[in-house]
Amino acid sequence: MSRLVLATRNTHKVTELQQILKDAGLAVELVGVDAFPDVPDVPETGLTFAANALLKAHAVARATGLPAVADDSGLCVEALNGMPGIFSARWSGTHGDDRANLELLLAQVSDIAVEHRAAYFACAAALALPDGTERVVEGRLNGTLTFAPRGTGGFGYDPILQVDGDSRTTAELTPDEKNAVSHRGKAFRALVPIVTELVTDRS
Ligand code: IMP
Repeated sequence: MSRLVLATRNTHKVTELQQILKDAGLAVELVGVDAFPDVPDVPETGLTFAANALLKAHAVARATGLPAVADDSGLCVEALNGMPGIFSARWSGTHGDDRANLELLLAQVSDIAVEHRAAYFACAAALALPDGTERVVEGRLNGTLTFAPRGTGGFGYDPILQVDGDSRTTAELTPDEKNAVSHRGKAFRALVPIVTELVTDRS
């Protein structure tokens, strides 16, 4: 069976992509990068989600000698010209402080009217092969920023993005409901035909 490495230490993402590959009937064994302790963390020095996803996928493919998938994602607010964007995880200055990031963002848009609060989650997912072949796809989840957090599910900015066509935030969806519509779910599903072509055919 072909092996594919997912360049993340987030076990939730590994499970999500494993399920998507399984649903598509692909004979691919997906392993997280934790299975390769010598692979260094890759600095996200790109200026787009796609550039960062490609950087990580290439670094892990080179280090492991296996095809590698990586993703990069964030929240883009139209009134802020697409920010926090690639800076989503460290918007308040401290990497990964979800609550501080969300509160700073809400404060920054506190006087923006509801009709101008459009925002979307974006995800780029990249596949790189050890020979340098690369592909990148993107997925989006459109919504509107709320004025206060709602819901306890998910992570990051989930409590403040109300999904278009739904009265709930992504923190009020079940994990399965979120995966079905999420930026990451869409990007990972768009990778399936690419994995089929570039990974499973070579086994
Ligand atoms: P990463 O690409 O997984 O490192 O995510 C970057 C940052 O974007 C996270 O720290 C969150 O702040 C935000 N983010 C990405 N995806 C989501 C999501 O599905 N829900 C909420 N926040 C997200």
